Amino acid sequence: MDQAPRSPQPRRRPRKHVPTPVQLGVRPSTLLWRGLFIRCPACGGRHVFRNWFAMADRCPTCTLRFERVEGHWIGSLGLNTTVVFTVMLLVLLGGSIVTYPDVPLGPLLGTEMAIALLGPVVFFPPSRTLWTATDLLMRPLDAGEIDPRFVVVDPERDRRPRGGT
Ligand SMILES: [Zn+2]
Repeated sequence: MDQAPRSPQPRRRPRKHVPTPVQLGVRPSTLLWRGLFIRCPACGGRHVFRNWFAMADRCPTCTLRFERVEGHWIGSLGLNTTVVFTVMLLVLLGGSIVTYPDVPLGPLLGTEMAIALLGPVVFFPPSRTLWTATDLLMRPLDAGEIDPRFVVVDPERDRRPRGGT
């Protein structure tokens, strides 16, 4: 019987640092894999996009709000750009090495242009879910961010050590 009366203290947000994978009971790589395959990183749920360009505000399965903070999507933009540039570089290097010394400049440039134009579009959905996964790995879930049924370890709820009775 150690139930203290509820004191009206302001919630000072006890920063119990429990990483998101522990909160959700999954491996860190699971979050990234789910993101890569355009699923909700937190629960693995589908239908996080209404169409190729329109992402749902919240996961229809676990209610996670994907835009976790203002400016959240800048990260996905950076990720998308990095991936597309990397692919362009690899194609340029690979194409040049394989065809050396008769490097077909025209076709190679055409391919690069096609990647530059289509790459960001093709990679748009996974860049968003993958970035959300990355963000979840860096910043743990706050209380109420997700349907509590998906949370395995909740620093608020599980504050008392287990094994009492
Ligand atoms: Zn979800």
